[in-house]
Amino acid sequence: MDHRHVLTASLDRILSYVRISVTDRCNFRCKYCMPESGVEPMDHRRIMTYEDIVFLCEVMSFLGVRRVRFTGGEPFVRKGFVPFLSDFRDRLPHLSVALTTNGSLVEPFAPALGELNLDGISVSLDSLDKSAFSDITRCGRLSDVVKGIRALRKHTDKVKINTVLIKGFNDHQLGDLLKFSADEGVLLRIIEFMPLDSSIWFDDSFISVDDMIDRLPNRQDWILEGPSLSPDSGPAVYYRNVVSGQRVGFIAAVSHHFCDSCNRLRVTSEGEMRPCLFSPEGERLLPALRDRDRDELVRLIRLSAAKKPRCWMDVASGDNHMSSIGG
Ligand code: SAM
Ligand code: SF4
Repeated sequence: MDHRHVLTASLDRILSYVRISVTDRCNFRCKYCMPESGVEPMDHRRIMTYEDIVFLCEVMSFLGVRRVRFTGGEPFVRKGFVPFLSDFRDRLPHLSVALTTNGSLVEPFAPALGELNLDGISVSLDSLDKSAFSDITRCGRLSDVVKGIRALRKHTDKVKINTVLIKGFNDHQLGDLLKFSADEGVLLRIIEFMPLDSSIWFDDSFISVDDMIDRLPNRQDWILEGPSLSPDSGPAVYYRNVVSGQRVGFIAAVSHHFCDSCNRLRVTSEGEMRPCLFSPEGERLLPALRDRDRDELVRLIRLSAAKKPRCWMDVASGDNHMSSIGG
């Protein structure tokens, strides 16, 4: 293997996937992700421009990165996001491009997103109960997200729903979420609540994937399809309902963490590269990005890859927010 074009980390991990936060801002304030007051908004000048992001991805692609996921904050809050995606597709057509969104602002962009033929659009949806939805997001409207999902489905079959399952909040809604996903023709993936911020994290809110699987309605009808080492979502485990044919994925980021096969790097909207979601800090890429200094950028990216922890528990500090790191 030609190591000039590969990013490696300890445990023989090859890093080929980057999640980039395009903004730290969000129109929601999900209780498990952000404090009620939001996070201090970053000065625009400290945020990567779209041109910075394209340059970063060109360099990362030279280093063997093949997949990019844009996230936030809420990516659609940032002005010009869809034209940027279109430009990105034109300039880096060999990269797989996916998005994570809360879905509330996507409806008008659905035809354009369909045309871009993206490799995946994950919409986060934690409840189908109107008031529970407004409660967990603190300010979101369920109907906007449902409209967004339906509009997207008219133009692409790459839509997935991601649900964080939280004990005492939505664990009794698994059946409703499964039915909705089946009706809309989208794959549901259930994610463990991650202990990123100790001020938001409560031990008794956590449900492990093993418990979630036990709670599947008509549990006897669901069979394990086999683990899928999806480069995009971490190793989700998929179950299939033998009666309806529906599939559901479970992502055990905490209980069966997949650090030893993790292929990801993350970049915050300020251009800080984090080798792990739980890393308290990272390499500041912004000066090298602004100078278009390819050699320095390669050096910093390799340095970050080399700092990738063997396990998230080695670095977790308990005061990170998913919204600022890019979930
Ligand atoms: N705003 C977009 C959204 O909500 O999809 C993208 C950013 S959000 C930070 C990305 C994902 O992180 C969402 O699916 C959200 O549910 C998830 N997330 C945020 N905080 C989390 C936590 N503490 N544990 C597990 N997932 C979390
Ligand atoms: Fe915003 Fe997404 Fe965090 Fe909710 S999970 S506050 S939508 S960034």
